[in-house]
Amino acid sequence: MGQENPTSVIVWFRNDLRLADHAALAAAVKADAKIFPVYILEDTVAGGRKLGGASKWWLDKSLKSLRSAISQRGGKLICRKGDAEKVLHDLVSETGADAVFWGRRYTQPEMDRDADIKKALQDEGIEAESFNTCLLTEPWSYQTTSGGYYKVFTPYWRAVRSSFEAPDPVQAPETFAGIGINGDEIESWELHPSKPDWSKGFDDMWTPGEEGAQERLQSFLDGPVREYEEMRNRPDQDGTSGLSPHLHHGEISPATVWRAVMGRINRGLQEEESAWSFLSEIVWREFSYVLIYHNPKMGRENYDSKFNKMEWRSNKKDLELWQKGKTGYPIVDAGMRQLWATGWMHNRVRMIVASLLTKHLLLNWTEGEDWFWDTLVDADPASNAAGWQWTAGSGADASPYFRVFNPITQGQKFDQTGAYVRRWCPELKKLPNKHLHAPWEAGRHVLEKAGIELGKTYPRPIIEHRQGRQRALDAWETLKGKQ
Ligand code: FAD
Repeated sequence: MGQENPTSVIVWFRNDLRLADHAALAAAVKADAKIFPVYILEDTVAGGRKLGGASKWWLDKSLKSLRSAISQRGGKLICRKGDAEKVLHDLVSETGADAVFWGRRYTQPEMDRDADIKKALQDEGIEAESFNTCLLTEPWSYQTTSGGYYKVFTPYWRAVRSSFEAPDPVQAPETFAGIGINGDEIESWELHPSKPDWSKGFDDMWTPGEEGAQERLQSFLDGPVREYEEMRNRPDQDGTSGLSPHLHHGEISPATVWRAVMGRINRGLQEEESAWSFLSEIVWREFSYVLIYHNPKMGRENYDSKFNKMEWRSNKKDLELWQKGKTGYPIVDAGMRQLWATGWMHNRVRMIVASLLTKHLLLNWTEGEDWFWDTLVDADPASNAAGWQWTAGSGADASPYFRVFNPITQGQKFDQTGAYVRRWCPELKKLPNKHLHAPWEAGRHVLEKAGIELGKTYPRPIIEHRQGRQRALDAWETLKGKQ
């Protein structure tokens, strides 16, 4: 083991790209040590996968923001690429650091890799310590009365709500070291997408980095939090926080969010239940981590193994029409185009598009999860897998497979004003609300007047709703017969 009080610490940033309320940085501050901030671009990340394209876009901006915050404090963010164990080994000798601190990850094979790195450092006589930097509580913190982790969300939420208290925030360092230590230029990593660069719309929507995260939280608390419970399902409204990519990249800690919301509740926010409803979503994120921590294969494999025998179709053409937002179901197409244009999609619409893929199109949820992984700026190994498996019916506490969302009525109910479809499917913008979510039901004159030619300017439905629903239910019956 290293010495009790390190004098010089490498803080290895991962999905915790911030200075405020960062337990690993705080431990280094407490030891009064010199801090060498490091980021390592590893070949694979969560679940042994490569970073998705949209995540790379975000990472590029977020690292630049962190680099600038560190340089304002007199230091340098040392960026290196490659095998983390080797990079850290080299950096220990180049900096003379006697400790390495980092935030924990909860996916495999990353946890094993981190354990190996810890051991290798300790064998060299270097103190190596990991901290919780990205969750409210560790995935093993809450146990059911009969022992074991929570497999159902509601009791987990009740347990967290009644007992969790966010610890006091920890202080950001005032100074950093690192000047004079070699590192790559972030620009040389070419994280910004090319061939094609589909990220042009991202800049209009996002400000990656710690400041952007704080601004998002503030603007959410100044307005939408009050009506969150009512508006959170409405993609035609700005009813949610948009914090997911900031939370995923760790630009704000969930404890900071929790404290800020609790602050409003404690000061007598009238719409208290709305604020609690928002906190429950923050806890859905935690729950996803509980699930993946205890089921490391959940990122790629069915949580419920009975789905291993599901007879998914294999159909590249249908998959591509779904990916491109050309299914002929306006709410689905709007969602898929929003995803492509902004790197984000509203939660309600994520459920609708996932239901269409896994039920009407009978394609394996992993195909949708892969697409989301590549195109979402908040692509997260735990929440993405949990969201897909929840919708497909194969997850823990999942929506049953036979619950097939009707993309027409979902659109009518949640995009009541039609603003969402009109924004992302402008070719439908002149259709009256009555027909907006089912253009094929509009009469010839209505379509003509709206300038729509079905099959040409906008597709006909990829599969008729009742037919798609029936095919899904039949597949479900066949699966049940195999048990
Ligand atoms: P808000 O409504 O403002 O919620 C606040 C925060 O709570 C979010 O930022 C997010 O961190 C968390 N949260 C909200 N809903 C959920 C949820 N259902 N599960 C887990 N955490 C939640 N979320 C991701 O962060 N990354 C993903 O890769 C991801 N993939 C998904 C895939 C599918 C098929 C589905 C149905 C959901 C997925 N979600 C994912 C969850 C959810 O859609 C997003 O977190 C949410 O839309 C983000 O928008 P927001 O920040 O405005 O959310």
